Amino acid sequence: MKNAKYLSFIFFIVVTSVFSSEKILLTNQENNSYIWSEYIEEQELIPAKEFASIISAKFEWNPIIQEGILKKYKALCFLWPNKEKIILDKEEIVLQSPCQLISGKLFVPFDLIFSFCERVDMRAEFSKEKNKLIFYKKSSGIPPLANTKQGFWHVLKEGETLYRISKNYGIDLSSIISLNRIIDPRFLVPGQMIYIPDIGIQTEKELEIPSLPPETTGPKKPLVEKYGIKKIVLDPGHGGKDSGAIGKSGTKEKDVNLDIAIKLHKELKKRLPNTEIILTRDDDYYVPLVERTALANFKKVDLFISIHANAAFSNSASGFEVFHLSAVASDKHAENIAEFENAVIKKFKEKEIIDYTQKILSDIAQDEFISQSIDLALFIQRQVTSKLDIKNRGIKSAFFWVLRDAKMPAVLIETGFLSNPDEEAKMKELAFKTNLVNALANAIIAYKESYEEKLTKE
Ligand SMILES: [Zn+2]
Repeated sequence: MKNAKYLSFIFFIVVTSVFSSEKILLTNQENNSYIWSEYIEEQELIPAKEFASIISAKFEWNPIIQEGILKKYKALCFLWPNKEKIILDKEEIVLQSPCQLISGKLFVPFDLIFSFCERVDMRAEFSKEKNKLIFYKKSSGIPPLANTKQGFWHVLKEGETLYRISKNYGIDLSSIISLNRIIDPRFLVPGQMIYIPDIGIQTEKELEIPSLPPETTGPKKPLVEKYGIKKIVLDPGHGGKDSGAIGKSGTKEKDVNLDIAIKLHKELKKRLPNTEIILTRDDDYYVPLVERTALANFKKVDLFISIHANAAFSNSASGFEVFHLSAVASDKHAENIAEFENAVIKKFKEKEIIDYTQKILSDIAQDEFISQSIDLALFIQRQVTSKLDIKNRGIKSAFFWVLRDAKMPAVLIETGFLSNPDEEAKMKELAFKTNLVNALANAIIAYKESYEEKLTKE
């Protein structure tokens, strides 16, 4: 009995010293926030998200590849759970203790906090007695543009992207696009003047853009013939050994996707004779996800449309939905769909691109096309819901491997639920497929026309 008590006391000590929580104050002198820190093997860790927020940095967590990114100004840091190694500004740094994933949140140790602050001209100080982490701006560390009132003109260099400019100046990408009234970020001309607003002024309403300095000629007028939509990729999801979802009566998603894509290919070729329509597969064979966008990028395609059919655990789920790429899913359902569509990576051991420079490049790609992708998704939604008797589940976002490297507007369509016996039956009907194909063709053509009309008004 005595022994048992003694043992449980020991057990209590061991457990509390390995894993315990404590309330800690984070302050940057203007804002204070109390958060829970975690102690793991005597190392104190705080949530990366709250750390980012108190120093006005950005933290993104990708649950699929289990990778966190911390960004502020030019500083970029990649983090992984259970790893002491981090990559800070392309340099490998080994921490005293690893980052940890606790209840789905990434926690970072103090030495990471000190190193990162150093890179962004800040200083972090920990007061053990007060249990307080204080963040100071270094006197030399005036953030870019913080002392300018109006903003200035940036001359675009060869090969420079808006994404890069936005990161360099710490200005939101969409603000740069809207302030400069850029319709398509792909068609920027070296030497073009880009207006960079003051960091605090980020909307058109708040600022009247001064006219271009007289010595510049400004961007060349983009022409529809030159910059219009000339190539479209249709990507029937899955194929070959990868069946995708399977319906109650055995319908395979790969077959439904291919059937619709081939019909849409034919329809678009007929209605858009001057546009090249490309299929990522035209038969029942397997194409790795990375090769699908690689083809589109190589061919310098203007639109990427991935065609899929849905599945859910519940056989009553029904409807049509369109997705665009985002690091964060719009809801739990969207996250599940992305997980299902991405599963092929693990199942067939597709080569995952975890090279971090590649990761940055693919971020650039979709960030710049997000508003066009949403536009395209809207056209598709509008057409499909007006032409077909199918529930509209809306436009959603999630992390899809097949979209992540596309350097063009890209959407993924889930045409209906094979897990729903009624919809499975409907998707085999010729009338349904014909209507769906017509609606998709109408939407793509309407998007193309509206996009090209904007070009002529430039
Ligand atoms: Zn699919």
